[in-house]
Amino acid sequence: MARLVLPCKSSGFARAGLLGLISSVPTKCRVSFLENSARNISRYRRILTSETLYQRNRCFSYLSQARTRQANRRLICSVATESLQKLVEEPAMDSPKEIFLKDYKMPDYYFDTVDLKFLLGEEKTIVSSKITVFPRVEGSYPLVLNGHDLKLVSIWINSKELKEGEYQLDSRHLTLPSPPSGTFTLEIVTEIYPQKNTSLEGLYKSSGNFCTQCEAEGFRKITFYQDRPDIMAKYTCRIEAEKALYPVLLSNGNLIEQGDLEGGRHYALWEDPFKKPCYLFALVAGQLESRDDIFVTRSGRKVSLRIWTPAKDVPKTAHAMYSLKEAMKWDEDVFGLEYDLDLFNIVAVPDFNMGAMENKSLNIFNSKLVLASPETASDADHAAILGVIGHEYFHNWTGNRVTCRDWFQLSLKEGLTVFRDQEFSSDMGSRTVKRIADVSKLRNYQFPQDAGPMAHPVRPHSYIKMDNFYTGKFQFFV
Ligand SMILES: [Zn+2]
Repeated sequence: MARLVLPCKSSGFARAGLLGLISSVPTKCRVSFLENSARNISRYRRILTSETLYQRNRCFSYLSQARTRQANRRLICSVATESLQKLVEEPAMDSPKEIFLKDYKMPDYYFDTVDLKFLLGEEKTIVSSKITVFPRVEGSYPLVLNGHDLKLVSIWINSKELKEGEYQLDSRHLTLPSPPSGTFTLEIVTEIYPQKNTSLEGLYKSSGNFCTQCEAEGFRKITFYQDRPDIMAKYTCRIEAEKALYPVLLSNGNLIEQGDLEGGRHYALWEDPFKKPCYLFALVAGQLESRDDIFVTRSGRKVSLRIWTPAKDVPKTAHAMYSLKEAMKWDEDVFGLEYDLDLFNIVAVPDFNMGAMENKSLNIFNSKLVLASPETASDADHAAILGVIGHEYFHNWTGNRVTCRDWFQLSLKEGLTVFRDQEFSSDMGSRTVKRIADVSKLRNYQFPQDAGPMAHPVRPHSYIKMDNFYTGKFQFFV
C-alpha cells in the first residue's frame, strides 16, 4: 500500500526532489531535463544547503512544541487514530484494544476456501460467505471472528443454522464457543451499508462506484472473518448488481463466468487460484471504461492488462500503461519474477483515500497517481506515476504471494517493495538524481516524524490501529 503524500507546497526542494524519479519516456521536456541533470544536481546542492537550515529551524520549533506535550506522549501515540468524540461515545467495554507483539499466537483454526457472494443494492448490500474451516490442532477451542459495523443475518455450520445461544456476538466479534472437530463448513450472511460507510475501509460507495479498501483491517467491515494476515485462503467472489448502474464488476483473480439475470441485474464470478490474506481482497463495481493492452511474459504467456477509469479519464492513462509494462518487464529482468495470472486490472478512482493498494490482480489507485495528461502533467507527475505503478505491481511477489505473519511485519513487505520500486525508478531514469530525491523525502517527512510525538520503531511493540504506522518509516526508507 502507498499513502498519497503530496509534496509540501512551501518546500521548493520537496517539489524539485520528485524530479529524481523521472522515467525514460522519450518526451521532449524530460530529455531536456536529463541533458541538464548535472547542472540541476549542482542547483539541488545549493537548495539542499538552504533547505537544511530551514529544516533545522523547523525541527527546533517542532521539538520545543513536542517537549511541552512530553508528559502526554504515550497517550497521544496510543489514541492518535481514534477521535475524542468516538472514544467518549463508545462504552468502555468497546474501547479499542491494544495489540502486543509479544502476545502473538498461531491461529487455532485455518481457512482453506472462501466463497463470497455480494448482492449489491442501493439501500443495503447482502454478503454471504462460505468458508471451509479446519483446526490447526485437535481439541475444542472457540473460533473467534472479527467483525465491525455488520448486521448478522444468519450463521450456519455444516448446513445447519445456529440458534441464539449457540454463538456469542458483540460489537467487534462473533464467537463460536465449541465448533465441530475436524474440517467443517461455516456460512455467514451479513448485511452492510456501503452508502453510509464514511470510514472508507471495507466496502464503500463513492462517486457512484462501489470500492473496497481492506488493508490493514478493513475486511472485518465486510463480513465476519479471522482478519489477520496469517489466515490465507483461496477465494471465489460472485458479484450481483443492477447492470445499468454497475456495468463493470471486478474482483481478484480470473473472470470465470458472467451473465445477465432477471430484473435488469447481472453477475460476474471471479476466482483467485492463489491463497491470499483477506487484506488483499478487492471488489469494484461501477461505470468504468478501460484502456486495454497485452504483456507477453518471458515464458510466452499473454497477460491482458486493463486500466479502468471513468470514461473521460481513459485518454490520460497512457503513461500508467507504459509504466505497468515497464515494471512487469523489469521485474522479470532484474528479479526473475514473472506475473502469475492471465489478467491484471488497475482501477483509478478519485475518492480512494489510500494512495494506492496492491490487491491481488486488482490494484486500486487514487486518480492522482494514475492519470497524466501530456498537456498538463509535469515531469514530477510522470515520475510519481511510474514509481507508484511499479510499487504496487512489485507487491505481487513481495507482499502478496509472500506475505506477512502479522502487522508487526509490515516493514518487511513495504521496505522490500520500496527498495524494489526505488531500484526500478533508478534504472528507468538517473540513479544519482533518484537517490537525491529519496534522501530529500527522508529529510522532509521522516526526520520531522522521528523528532516528534509520532516517532515509532520500525517494528512497534504494540498498536491500537495499524493504520497509524503507514508512515515514511515503512514506506520510504526501510
Ligand atoms: Zn506498499
